[in-house]
Formats: sequence, C-alpha cells, structure tokens
Amino acid sequence: MIRVRDAHLHNLRNVDVDLPRGQLVAVTGVSGSGKSSLAFGTIHGEGQRRYFESVAPFARRLISSAVDPQVGGIEGLPPTVALQQSTSGGGARSTVGTVSAMSNTIRLLYSRVGDNPEGLYSDSFSPNTPEGMCPDCQGTGIQHVPTEESMVPDPTLSINEGAIKAWPQAWAGKNFHDILEELGYDLDSPWQDLSQKDRDWILFTEERPVVTVHPHRGADQIQRNYEGTWRSVASYLTKTFRETQSDTLRDRTLRFMESHTCPTCGGRRLNPKALKVTYAGLRIDELGALPLADVLTLLQAQPRDNTAAELLLKQVIPALESAVELGLGHLSLDRPSATLSPGELQRLRLAAQLRSGLFGVAYVLDEPSAGLHPEERTAVMDICRRFLAAGNSVLLVEHDMDLVAQADWLVDVGPLAGEAGGEILYSGPIDAYAAETPTSRALHSRQLQLNAAPRDAHGELSLHGVNCRSIKELDVDFGLGQFTAVAGVSGSGKSTLISTVLAGLLRSTATAVSDNEEETGWSVRAHEGLDQVSRVVQITQKPIGRTPRSTLATYTGLFDAVRKLFAATPAAKEKKWTVSRFSYNVKQGQCPTCGGAGQIEVELAFLPGSYSTCPDCHGARYNPETLEITWNGYTIADVLALTVDDAAAVFAEEPPIARALATLQSVGLGYLRLGQGAPELSGGEAQRIKLATELQRSRNSRRGHTVYILDEPTTGLHPADIALLNAELHKLADAGQTVLVVEHNLSVIASADRVLEMGPGAGADGGRIIADATPAELARRDTPTGRALASRA
Ligand code: ADP
Ligand code: ADP
Ligand code: ZN
Ligand code: ZN
Repeated sequence: MIRVRDAHLHNLRNVDVDLPRGQLVAVTGVSGSGKSSLAFGTIHGEGQRRYFESVAPFARRLISSAVDPQVGGIEGLPPTVALQQSTSGGGARSTVGTVSAMSNTIRLLYSRVGDNPEGLYSDSFSPNTPEGMCPDCQGTGIQHVPTEESMVPDPTLSINEGAIKAWPQAWAGKNFHDILEELGYDLDSPWQDLSQKDRDWILFTEERPVVTVHPHRGADQIQRNYEGTWRSVASYLTKTFRETQSDTLRDRTLRFMESHTCPTCGGRRLNPKALKVTYAGLRIDELGALPLADVLTLLQAQPRDNTAAELLLKQVIPALESAVELGLGHLSLDRPSATLSPGELQRLRLAAQLRSGLFGVAYVLDEPSAGLHPEERTAVMDICRRFLAAGNSVLLVEHDMDLVAQADWLVDVGPLAGEAGGEILYSGPIDAYAAETPTSRALHSRQLQLNAAPRDAHGELSLHGVNCRSIKELDVDFGLGQFTAVAGVSGSGKSTLISTVLAGLLRSTATAVSDNEEETGWSVRAHEGLDQVSRVVQITQKPIGRTPRSTLATYTGLFDAVRKLFAATPAAKEKKWTVSRFSYNVKQGQCPTCGGAGQIEVELAFLPGSYSTCPDCHGARYNPETLEITWNGYTIADVLALTVDDAAAVFAEEPPIARALATLQSVGLGYLRLGQGAPELSGGEAQRIKLATELQRSRNSRRGHTVYILDEPTTGLHPADIALLNAELHKLADAGQTVLVVEHNLSVIASADRVLEMGPGAGADGGRIIADATPAELARRDTPTGRALASRA
C-alpha cells in the first residue's frame, strides 16, 4: 500500500488515503475537486522532491521552496514517473522521433546496419548535432537571405524617411544612421535614386569601418562624441539571427530576409554524406517522413542477420507497435512535436515508456484517453496492464467511465470543486462503489440519450474541393443554426477540416475571435453561404496567459468594473487615486518585490517555470497603502481571493460584475478564485473561461450570425461537467447560432443535431466523410462512431 497522510496541497483537506501497489488505480472526481492535486501535486510531487534531493542534496532549501507537496508523509511510495498532458512539446526542434526516443535507434540503424560506405557515426544522421546538420542551413532546411527588396521594402523613401526598415530600433539604428551621415552618404534622396554602388555598400559590405560620430541631440541633452562601428544591414541581420536568444528579435529579423528551401540539402536538413546512406531502401529523411504504421511494416521485414540489426530492431519495433496501437500510426518521425495535440504527445511519451523496462515505479497518467476514439481506447488499458505486468503501479486520472470501470481500485475526490471539494469520497475496490455521487452515477448509468428532436438547419455553408494534408478534393457542407459534432478515429482529419480549413476560411471572410495560430497550407476551390456568417469564434484549450499576471478576473474583464468601485470610494477620491492605482500591473499600486505577480519565479535549472509565494505581500500583489482602501469592508486583494461563488454574493448589487460571475458559474467554474493566475488553471478551465467570456460578450450585443468552433472541448472534464458545458453550447444553437465541435465524447455526439464522421482510417486512409447523419441514424450504421453509439444507446 502507498499510505498518504495529511495531504493538504491546494484544496485537499488533510486527506489520508491508502492506495494498493501493483494495481490499476483510477482517480476520479468533478473538475477542480482535487484529483490532480492528489495524484500529481502530492504523490508525484513527493516522488520528485525525493528524487531531486537525492541528485542535488546541496539545493535542498531551494527545492523545498519550489516543490512542496504539502503532505505529512507518504509511506511505501515507489519512484514515480508522471506523464502529464502539456501543450509544450519540448524545444522547437523536438519531433515525434526525439520525443519517443526512436530517433536514436533509427540513427544507429543507419550508421551500423545501413549501406554506409563513409563509416559515419550515428550523430552524423541527426540534423540537430554539429556533425549531422547541413552546413548551409544549420539543419533547418531553410536558408534566410537578406536581399535589397527584403531590407528596403519601399525604395521611394529616403534613408531619413526610414527606407531601411531592417535597421534595429532605438540606439543601434540611430548609430548606423549617424555613421552613414558622417561618411557623407545621401540621406535625403529616395533610396532608388542612390547609385547601385552606394546601395550595395550600405546593404552588403563586409567592411567594418570605425567612425567618430558627432550625434545631434536635443538642446537639453549632453552631446558626446563616440567611436561607432559600421555594419552593413545584411551583416547586422545575419549576425543577429545567428546569435540572438530572443524570439521576438529573431522573428523581427526574419521579416527582413527572404526564406527559401536550402539548395544544399533540398530542405532535408542533413549533411550531404548522410543523405547518401540508405537502409531498407530509403534515405533517413525518407524514412522519417513515412507514417509510423508504414515504418513498422518496413522494419518488421528487415533481416536480422547481424547482432546490431537484431539488437536495434528489438528495441524500436515494440515502441513502434505501441505507438500504432495507441492510435499514432498516422504520425511520422519527423513531425514537429509542436504540431501534435496534447493527447497525442502524452500517448507518444507513453509508448516510449514501454520500452524503458522500468519496474517497481508508480506511473501517474493524466487522462491518456484524450484525443482517442472510443474504439481506440482499449489500447490505453492494454498499455496500463503491461505496466502492471512488468511490476509497476498505475495511477490513472481519468474521466472516461468506460475506462474507469475497468480499473481495480477507485479513488473518488469531491464532493464538488475547489473549497467544496478536496475530500476522499471513496477509496476501495471499484465494484463496491455505490454511494450517491456524480462519479458513481456516471459509472452506473452510462446509457446514451440520442437526440430525438434534431434542429433543422436554417441555411447552409458549402465547401467544394477542400485540400489540406490528408484531405483531398473533399466536398462538405455544414448546417447553419445547428449543433454539429465532427467525429471519427484519431488522425482521420477532423481537426484539419474544422480547426484548420473551416476556421481559416471563416477568419478570412468574417470577424474572428480566436487564440489559435493562423494556419496555412489549405485551399478551398469554391464555397457558398459564407456571406451568411458575420463572426467566427474559435475556442481552444490554450492557456489564457503564461504568468500569474493573467488571471480569471483580468481575462474576463470583470476586474475593470471592480477597480471602478474601488476608485469611486471616498478614501480613494481623497487621495486622487484612479482605477489604474488598483491594477497590480501598474507600478503605483503593486507590491514592489514581486511586481504585482504575488509570486516570484524560482530559478531551478531542472524545474523551469516554478513559482513561490512573494515573501513581502504573501500573494496579495499590492503594496500596503493600496490595501488601506476598502470597498464594503474588502480590500482589492480580498476581492481577488474570493471564489466566483462567493463573489456572486458580494457583488449581487453590481449588475455588470454579477452577470459576468453568473456566466462563469453556468459553465461550472464557481469554485475558481478571481485572482487565480494562468499557471494554476488547467486547459479545460482556461477553455471554459474563454467560453464564458464569449457568452457574456454575445449576450451583450447583437452581432449577427456566429459560428462557434471547438476542438475536443470535453478534454479534462468529468461527465457532470461535460453535461454543463454541453448545455451551454446547446443554448447557443437554441439562439440560432451555429456550433461545430470536434469530439470523441459519446454523450456530446449523441446530443448533436447532426454528426459528420470522418474516416475511414487515419492519415492517408482518412480525410473523407464516411457518414453524415443524425445520432439516431448513425447508431444504425457500421462505422466506428456508429458502433460506439449503438453499444451504449
Ligand atoms: P482536478 O484535477 O480535480 O480538476 P485540481 O487538483 O487541479 O483539480 O484543483 C483542485 C483545486 O486546487 C481547484 O480549486 C484549483 O483551482 C486549485 N489549484 C490547482 N492548481 C493550483 C495551484 N497551482 N495553486 C493554487 N491552487 C491550485
Ligand atoms: P484528427 O483531428 O481526426 O485526429 P488531424 O486533422 O489531426 O486528425 O490529422 C489528419 C492528418 O493530418 C494526419 O495524418 C495528421 O498526422 C496530419 N496532420 C495533422 N496536423 C498536422 C500538422 N500540423 N502538420 C502536419 N501534419 C498534420
Ligand atoms: Zn541545408
Ligand atoms: Zn509581492
């Protein structure tokens, strides 16, 4: 048994709980009840604390301030390995191959077993090592070249009018300008009238003359001469691009260079020698571009006629097999991990774990079913069983009751969220759970309600000749005013069709509210009905910010109204303090130690992004003078500490604030504190905050017909929360708006007016519409989603 005593992290109420080792333990509860706080924060947190102390005992004090699992003690805790859903997939160069650790083995295959006349080592097959990268593009496959057109986009301007857009801002740019002036160049004629020789020198010379600059400044400034060093614009750009650590500066620099495929490697990122080596008839970049399912078939057919081949294939084939089983067969090794969904990324890490051969550890998994079609979810159970068979324990934070039902042991956290949660409602064998709770209700009544009265469409949006990734020449239409679920096995093209193509198209013709990056690489030959849509709202699970400065209160805009109340108090008026004084992002009001964040980032190389509470304001974010002002007895910091539910009572007489709070409650977020910072919010919470903000906006004004686009909005939500969210989405359709959700959740699919199912398979085998039906009709069809609906209806 793993015996947890007095766990009190976040909302956990001094919890004692015993979990069996060597069994499959499911941790359930409504969102915000404390599941993650128990499984990840407490159990894995304690595991990590012990691990860090063993590797870096000298850093004990720093570690305990950053990783504090706030638990009395845990007996019988094995080492823990956590696989958490995260949207960040490592560095910019991280790929499916590197995340799964398969790339290493593949490179060894090329160097040891491949047809390798040069005798290259495995490092030479990686575009990420100095030995392996193409020397002319640093392994990026793209060359960035400054040209006259890219550096001086408007040649009718003179230098004094800002012709050289590529020059840096502030001092450095002025320095270059002043040097040219000292050198006697013509700064007032249009750029195009300068001689080619002068233009080439300014833009491209490698010379770096040192010039005495006599700067002219305003009369009140000191004018001091200095020695300035010249750099041509091109040399400045390439040097900056090569050396800067700042993404912003890098992006700015890129704007003034032309980018094209590297001619040396043809975009393959590798050095020419490595590109000559083949294995299984393919170059390593060709193998890297194949879907994993094909790589598996190919490698299975390779001879194992020497020790190296035998050994390496024995390593990589099981990892490929589990990746394919986990619904990842459509990915390729070279796919950048930044383009994967959080669920895909976690399953990839899971597949990689299977080959690590660890035993005696406790795996802590975060909803590994996310992103999988119900028919594909059995693979998750198989993998958990394999971990157990190898002598490990598995703790599964999971919402899919079909999976939970297969666990050995259940820990249910609740009863509600936040302060109304944090208790263990049940810990015991799964079959014996009979109490009246949301989880046991969901476990025991898994029958679906198929929508019996689907709404009719009041218009149509038709796309013809859609092309993007695996979608080829697809014709599809969507009903306006309907709630449409887009279903299908993973990799079948749902997100591509909805989040990339349709959202992209609507963004180009209607007002858009979206935090998704604009994607390219799609085309639509013809379309009808787009003129009926005036807005598109795309809501993702991306965080609402990266630092504790973005909070629920600021994001929803309700904090502006709260600050007005404080500025209107007699005490504030007397001091002539305005609304800005009550913003923690403004100097006058904020705590100087933490700059208004309430927390201070702890710099630990092995734990980036850790925060600890500010020692001066203790999380209040404000300086003491600001906190002297109260409104109805509350300081502004007290307000930020309120939960949405409590605030609803406090601000009941303030209509704009009360309305915003009511909307948050309607999507099940009453338990969040107003000042809860972005790093403390889950993806599902962030998404519901965005949805609530949007509902609030659309209620406030009439903005014409809106299309709402959501991609797997139920990820991370308990069945009880899903019901709430789904009801809100249906209200939008009731009001005549169009709702499109990419979903695997059967209760959401069953509630839709219309289901578009994509398939039949993944990747190149997908990209088509295999069913377009009401849920009741679909349940009678022999498709993956039809079968799943039928089995539960
Ligand atoms: P669940 O996993 O069940 O959704 P969590 O364990 O994430 O719930 O959250 C339980 C409670 O703790 C919630 O009220 C949540 O807002 C709060 N919480 C979560 N993370 C943090 C954090 N880093 N700091 C403070 N409170 C947090
Ligand atoms: P689904 O949403 O049904 O899981 P996707 O639309 O994500 O399917 O994927 C459809 C196909 O497009 C798959 O072969 C997938 O690997 C590929 N794909 C998806 N996103 C990207 C991307 N950003 N870059 C390259 N290929 C992608
Ligand atoms: Zn190259
Ligand atoms: Zn502070």
